[in-house]
Amino acid sequence: MSDNSVFPGDKIASIEEYEAGHNTFDDGDMVRSATMGEKDMDKETRMVNVNHPKLLSIPKVGDVIIGTVAAVMSSMIAVTIDYINGKPTTSKVECICGTRNMRIRNVALVNDIASLKIVAHLNGTIHAVMDESELGIIFTKCRKCGGKVVTMRDAVKCTDCSWIDERKLSSNFGKSDFIHLRE
Ligand SMILES: [Zn+2]
Repeated sequence: MSDNSVFPGDKIASIEEYEAGHNTFDDGDMVRSATMGEKDMDKETRMVNVNHPKLLSIPKVGDVIIGTVAAVMSSMIAVTIDYINGKPTTSKVECICGTRNMRIRNVALVNDIASLKIVAHLNGTIHAVMDESELGIIFTKCRKCGGKVVTMRDAVKCTDCSWIDERKLSSNFGKSDFIHLRE
């Protein structure tokens, strides 16, 4: 740890002086760190970056992530990010994805694998969406018995107990190709 060490949420500079660069966000007043790392203030470009010891730790707006559903709430899900643009990340950053306006009974279950697109960094929270065909759940199990499911149009059906359920499925559902994205 050096004098340049910062923690998530730390104020680094005023937005009047510096612009938010990599691994940082601006809260409307200050540029803050989005991660733990070393701050790097470029006096020429007036840009602040935070260099994380692990690469690719914080996804940028527009990045596509693959992660594990950590929590399912009434209007959103929280997803722990495992891959950013196909590259593995070990920093276990979470993003949230609103589900309020989806007319689906069980958009996702805890421990499902989801593909999401990052749309914003807001007050230190990473916001994602799953409203494109390739975004959504790419791996899930039966809610009743934990069995394997197959797709039936927009629904999933358990091969063990025949329970039919809904998910916001990705067009990549059932393809295990996402594993190979790490290459
Ligand atoms: Zn089942």
